[in-house]
Amino acid sequence: MAVRLAEEWFAICGGCEVTILDIGEPLIDVLAKLDIVHMPVLMDHKLFGQTGENAELSIPEADVGIITGGIRTEEHKKIAQEMRKKCKTLIAMGSCACFGGVPALANLYSTEEMTDKVYRGSVTTDHDGIPHSGIPALTDRVYAVKEVVPVDLSLPGCPTTPEMVAGALIALLEGKPIELPSKSVCDDCPTIREKKAVSTLKRRLEGPEFTPGRPLSEMRCLMEQGFLCLGPATRTGCGGSQGTPRCIRAYMPCEGCFGPLSDTANPMVDMMGALSTIGLDPKQIPDRAPTFNRFVGAGRLRPLPRR
Ligand code: SF4
Ligand code: SF4
Ligand code: SF4
Repeated sequence: MAVRLAEEWFAICGGCEVTILDIGEPLIDVLAKLDIVHMPVLMDHKLFGQTGENAELSIPEADVGIITGGIRTEEHKKIAQEMRKKCKTLIAMGSCACFGGVPALANLYSTEEMTDKVYRGSVTTDHDGIPHSGIPALTDRVYAVKEVVPVDLSLPGCPTTPEMVAGALIALLEGKPIELPSKSVCDDCPTIREKKAVSTLKRRLEGPEFTPGRPLSEMRCLMEQGFLCLGPATRTGCGGSQGTPRCIRAYMPCEGCFGPLSDTANPMVDMMGALSTIGLDPKQIPDRAPTFNRFVGAGRLRPLPRR
């Protein structure tokens, strides 16, 4: 019997849904075993009826539920609770759902400050006031899905990888356990580390030193070249079967999109330690909290005191 799948998206960019398509050919085999019963990105399924005629949300019962995006509105909260009720297994997919993602950088501001900036203080918008009618109320901050309802599995990444999504779906179909890697991005990075001290951080635009065409194992660690790389504080897994992390393959430092090494790890503390080991003063980074928590701000970032 096919496995019934429901999917919902909240505060997101849509990239995680594209990741499902990026599974490519193996998706054809997976789809044959799935019965998609609810997926707003694919089907015009209005939760309150086509014309709002239903007073209640309508999400069918499902074996597996996937949520992408963090929770930014009271409506997201309600839908998350309904998904939890209707789905036997609930998956948070992508770093927005797992940790708030980039939208949770807004947690550095109060809702009033944020809406005021967006609707009244931006040069690119008409200053007509803050819309109130016909839209769901905002929550006080961005929440990760697991802060609102229990989640059975979190698949991190911005976006997560097609391999990870396919692997999770196949494991679920076959009733096998799913485990995320517990090592860091550095553990899968082939670059050369010499533990040489670095005095100043370089701007990303400067570009790292490497010889085009030569293997990454001949390039010096990007952090030891002076670039801020969040590899030491980030869970690995983005490299999939290739192993080497995605950004490193493109000669770019890791920005931390797979989130911390564990639920209890603190990327800020881990990165301060990593920077200190090569002699870099973390004070060189003026906006440390958002820099080290760029993808994981739900529950970690708080409004800053204003001058
Ligand atoms: S995790 Fe990244 S790709 Fe996925 S929805 Fe959020 S911003 Fe988009
Ligand atoms: S800091 Fe970055 S470049 Fe250096 S080993 Fe770790 S992941 Fe690789
Ligand atoms: S290297 Fe870092 S930022 Fe890049 S995809 Fe992997 S975890 Fe994300």
